[in-house]
Amino acid sequence: MIHQLSLTLSPELALDETTFREQALAHLSLPNTTDIVVRKRRQSIDARNRQVRVKVDADVYAGETPPPLIHYRKPQTDVSRAPQAIVVGAGPAGLFAALRLIELGIKPIVLERGSDVRARRRDLAAINKDHIVNPESNYCFGEGGAGTYSDGKLYTRSTKRGDVRRILEIFVAHGATEQILVDAHPHIGTNKLPNVVTDLRESILKAGGEVRFDTKVTDLILAGNELKGVVLANGDSLTGIGVILATGHSARDIFYLLHQRHVLIEAKPFAMGVRIEHQQSLIDQFQYHRPTRGDYLPAASYSLVAQTRFKGIERGVFSFCMCPGGFIVPAATAPGELVVNGMSPSRRDSQFANSGLVVAIADEDLQPYAEEGPLAGLALQQDLERWACRMGDGRQTAPAQRIADFVDGRVSNQLLPTSYQPGLASVDMGEVLPDHIAQPLRQGLRDFGRKMRGYMSNDGQVIGVESRTSSPVRIPRHRETCEHVQVSRLFPCGEGAGYAGGIVSAAMDGERCAEELVKLYKKGL
Ligand code: FAD
Repeated sequence: MIHQLSLTLSPELALDETTFREQALAHLSLPNTTDIVVRKRRQSIDARNRQVRVKVDADVYAGETPPPLIHYRKPQTDVSRAPQAIVVGAGPAGLFAALRLIELGIKPIVLERGSDVRARRRDLAAINKDHIVNPESNYCFGEGGAGTYSDGKLYTRSTKRGDVRRILEIFVAHGATEQILVDAHPHIGTNKLPNVVTDLRESILKAGGEVRFDTKVTDLILAGNELKGVVLANGDSLTGIGVILATGHSARDIFYLLHQRHVLIEAKPFAMGVRIEHQQSLIDQFQYHRPTRGDYLPAASYSLVAQTRFKGIERGVFSFCMCPGGFIVPAATAPGELVVNGMSPSRRDSQFANSGLVVAIADEDLQPYAEEGPLAGLALQQDLERWACRMGDGRQTAPAQRIADFVDGRVSNQLLPTSYQPGLASVDMGEVLPDHIAQPLRQGLRDFGRKMRGYMSNDGQVIGVESRTSSPVRIPRHRETCEHVQVSRLFPCGEGAGYAGGIVSAAMDGERCAEELVKLYKKGL
C-alpha cells in the first residue's frame, strides 16, 4: 500500500533522515518496521517568515517493493559503426547531445579543445598558485566545460525547454547523489562533479562514441550553405551528418570564426558586474533568523534584484549564480584578462558566501564598439577584463573594495580575508568599472542593504570582474529544427549559442539539438 504525505516540519525533524522517518510513520500510525520504505519526493526550505520550516512530500510504501527511483538507463547500444555526427565542446550541452545521439543510433565524435578532468586540475592549480592561464584548459575549457569546477547548481527557470527530471536522472545514473531528485534547489558540488563528468564520458566511449581531448576546432568545411565538417588545429578535417556547435560563451575565437566565414551571428542582451563576498554566517543569520544555522540547515543562499536608473535608462541589477559556502575562482580564458566566478563543494562548508552582482548592458553602452557589429558586446567584455587585470597587478590578482567603501567612493585601507586564492588588490572599483555598471551597482547595493541588514556594509567586499554571466552573442537557429538559419547541418547549441544559461538548460538544449539533427538526417534532408 502506498501513502502520500506532505509534512511541514522544523529543520531538526525534517532534515535528519532517521527522525523524519519516525515523524512520517507516526503521522500515518504505522510501525517502524523494516518492510516499510519512506521515500522523500520533494523537499524545500521556507525561511520567509521568522520561523524556518521544511516542507517535505514523501511516499511511504508498506508491504510492497517501491518502483525504481530513476527510469533512465545508460545506453546499451553499440554505435561504433553507425553514421557519425560531430559535437564540438564537451560541456553539459555537448556531453548530453552525445549521449542522446547514441540513444538515437548515431555515433558522436566529441571534440574538446581542453584536457580531461584529471589533467585540467593541474591547469587550475597553475592559475590559482602561479597566475598562469592556459588558454586551452582552465575554469571554462576542458572536459565537462564551464560546469565541472562550479557549484553544480541544477535548477533552471527554463522548465518549458525540456525534461528537467530526465537530466537529473542522467546525473544520478552517472554518480550524482539521489538527493538532487528531491531538493527544490539541487546542487552537486565541485568535488563531486569531476567523477560524474568522467562517468558521462565513459558511457559515450562504451557505446562506441569518441571523445577527443586537446582537439580544437579552428575552421568550418562549408560547401555553399551546407556545413560538411570541421577543421582541427593540427590541420586534420572531419566530416559528419551534422555538427552540433556547443562551444560555450567563452570561445571567442569561434564567434570571430563564424563572423569571418559569413555565418550569421547576432548581438544578444547580457549583463556584467562584480562578485560580492560576505561571511556565510552573516547570510545564514539574515535568512534563517537565528544566530547560527545549526547542524541541519544548509548554508543559506539569496537572490536579490533591483531596478535602477542611470542617464535616463532603466537598468536591472541582480544577484547571479550565488555560491553559499563557496569560493571565488579565476575564470579567465587568456593571459592578460581577469574574470571571476564562483564554485562550492558539495557540503557548501567554506566560511564564505559569494554571488555575482550584475547590471544589464544597454545598447547605448555598446556605441563605442559599434564598428564591431554583432561582436560589440564581446569587445566591451574583453576590454573590461583586460582593464581589470591591469588594475589588479597584471596577473590574476583581482581588484577589490569593501562594499560600503565602493558605494561611498573611498579606497579601502585594508581588504578582508577572501576565498579568492590568487589574492586581491585594494583599488577604487569605480575606476575598474565603467559608470554604466558602477553607478547602477551602487544604487542596487543601497537597495539590497535595505532589504537585507548588513549586506551593504564594510563586512563584505566587491571583487571584479564578473563579466561572463551569459553570451553577448547569439548564433541564430530555426525554432523548430534547431538548424542555423542560413547554414544547413549546423546546430548552434547551449550557452554559447544563446540557448541556455546554466548546466541543466545547456544539457536539455544538447539533447534537443541531437534529436533535431537525427530527425533531419532520417528525413534525408
Ligand atoms: P560550456 O560548459 O562552456 O562548454 C563548452 C566547451 O566547448 C568547453 O569545454 C570548451 O573547452 C569547448 N570548446 C570551446 N571552443 C572549442 C573549440 N574551438 N574546439 C573544441 N572545443 C571547444 N551553471 C549552473 O547551472 N550552475 C552552477 O552552479 C554554475 N556554476 C558555474 C561556476 C563557474 C566557475 C562557471 C565558469 C560557470 C558556472 N555555471 C553554472 C555556468 C555553466 O557552467 C554553463 O552555463 C554551462 O557549462 C554551459 O554549458 P555549455 O555546454 O553550453 O558550454
